[in-house]
Amino acid sequence: MKIVVCVKHVPDAQGDRGFAADTTTDREAVDGLLSELDEYAVEEALRLREAGEDIEVVALTVGPDDARDALKKALQMGADGAVLVSDEAVHGSDAVGTSLVVARALQHVGFDLVVTGMASTDGSMGVVPAMVAERLGVPQVTYASEVTLSATSVRIRRDGDAASETVEASLPALVSVTDQVNEPRYPSFKGIMAAKKKPVTELTLADIGVDASEVGLDAAWAKAVEATARPAKQAGTVVVDSGGDGAERLVEFLAAQKLV
Ligand SMILES: Cc1cc2nc3c(=O)[nH]c(=O)nc-3n(C[C@H](O)[C@H](O)[C@H](O)COP(=O)(O)OP(=O)(O)OC[C@H]3O[C@@H](n4cnc5c(N)ncnc54)[C@H](O)[C@@H]3O)c2cc1C
Repeated sequence: MKIVVCVKHVPDAQGDRGFAADTTTDREAVDGLLSELDEYAVEEALRLREAGEDIEVVALTVGPDDARDALKKALQMGADGAVLVSDEAVHGSDAVGTSLVVARALQHVGFDLVVTGMASTDGSMGVVPAMVAERLGVPQVTYASEVTLSATSVRIRRDGDAASETVEASLPALVSVTDQVNEPRYPSFKGIMAAKKKPVTELTLADIGVDASEVGLDAAWAKAVEATARPAKQAGTVVVDSGGDGAERLVEFLAAQKLV
């Protein structure tokens, strides 16, 4: 059985993230990494492999050349192989374009189960998995906080505010997982060394049968037309107790903010 985990390479949230002139993410400004929420997807695929028999886990990403760093992390965690779809024409794609490329790449590499994160930590639209499943014509079971796999089906627990549902789908299928599903492992030294020898397949749009005119900024259904940086945080107010009036001045301050 083949499990393909979709992972996204995103700008490090600890760095100074910004936008390029065309309102796409400025990838030069800050280092990228495997989207933290996708670590749960990788971990879950590895756990399913460990709980089953004869299962191969392949990590797949669509992104610029740097995106191989996200694949490297997935390989270090334990994925068996990786696929990078990289093509200049993908730059600026919206969720619709991204889902097209991901779906065609999945068709190209083949899969029994697709595992994704619940959302990326940069775009955080949370729609790519559903769009990919629709394009592939396979069932989707989303926001899983528990996943069980059999030879013919996948079953998940989906925790809502009022109830937890158990949902089952026949394979091939797509599952997206939440950050409640597991605790992602850290790559071990052995895993880091082993990753260096694992295969990374590189594909272009032509390889997966996507025409450049179908993706990228010009083909986007929705466009970010403006991006304005948030103003820097102001220093907070410090209330100093001088002569026992601290509590009174604190209440005055809170009242002025309409907090009491
Ligand atoms: C500055 C900026 C400008 C943008 N401009 C636009 C715009 O004009 N129009 C527009 O519609 N969108 C725009 N976006 C959104 C951007 O295109 C999204 O990143 C993209 O649509 C995918 O959505 P997402 O990352 O939110 O994925 P989500 O749907 O949140 O991702 C969920 C899961 O799908 C998988 N996945 C997502 N992306 C990939 C990938 N590349 N490779 C492999 N797996 C993946 C991962 O498993 C991930 O956990 C912009 C984003 C930024 C940061």
